[in-house]
Amino acid sequence: MKKNLLRLAAVTSTVVLTGVTLAACGGSSGGDGMLAAIESGEVTIGTKYDQPGLGLRNPDGSMSGLDVDVAEFVVNQIATDNGWEAPAITWRETPSAQRETLIQNGEVDLIAATYSINQGRSQSVNFGGPYLVTHQALLVREAETAITDLESLDGKILCSVTGSTPAQTVKDALPGVQLQEYDTYSSCVEALRQGNIDAMTTDATILLGYSAQAPGQFKVIEMERDGEPFTNEYYGIGLAKDDTEGTDAINAALTELHDSGEFDRLVQENLGSDESVSPGTPGDLSFLDN
Ligand code: GLU
Repeated sequence: MKKNLLRLAAVTSTVVLTGVTLAACGGSSGGDGMLAAIESGEVTIGTKYDQPGLGLRNPDGSMSGLDVDVAEFVVNQIATDNGWEAPAITWRETPSAQRETLIQNGEVDLIAATYSINQGRSQSVNFGGPYLVTHQALLVREAETAITDLESLDGKILCSVTGSTPAQTVKDALPGVQLQEYDTYSSCVEALRQGNIDAMTTDATILLGYSAQAPGQFKVIEMERDGEPFTNEYYGIGLAKDDTEGTDAINAALTELHDSGEFDRLVQENLGSDESVSPGTPGDLSFLDN
């Protein structure tokens, strides 16, 4: 009965749906696992709201970006595989530092938010994927000439985001760097535009998105270490710790996403010919051993 009510609300209005969901059961997650949420017809997905090309909430309230498209494909594919109807999706903003907590609290059923799989995070959440691999890079103002690589950041003011892997990696690699940590990358971009910081660092995918949005203002600098990309960022889909069934279902859906050619199409549509992106191998977490 509750399920039917929620379905009805879903087709009526997203606003009503949110109210009903909160009142009825305190969020669609309720600790029943991601598959139960999809089966119920109402799933809450976490993503970024301020990263063009990846996860963006547009002025009209619609969502766009590769992570948004990948998450939609995954929940719809899982519904199809199980003979369920495509679920209504409620989007939730999940800033870098809050992702594990929002999954652990059951406030989101899954997260696709430029979310790198690593050992530390795997203690608190499960990951499907990786579906994509990118690398940590730098964004500077177009006219910048002094910053060309990691070493040239010494004495410069660098911005990244609290709780992100690039912030941690750069602190480890360059202990003397003046790192300012903000809550979101869009605040770093604004500080860079205004001249309050000299550079920002995160995944090349994200930086290329900001650069494409403001032609002529910024440039992306790839970073290397011993002739290799400075880091590999393996994007996963986060879900509740020990939800093995949910994780397997995500990996099956991601494999279908890659095999059908849909992933390449979505990359092209959202990021253009982005050379810093390659597909991951869903279910293969062997990179964590390195
Ligand atoms: N992929 C990195 C991470 O998960 C950086 C991007 C982000 O902060 O979302 O930390």
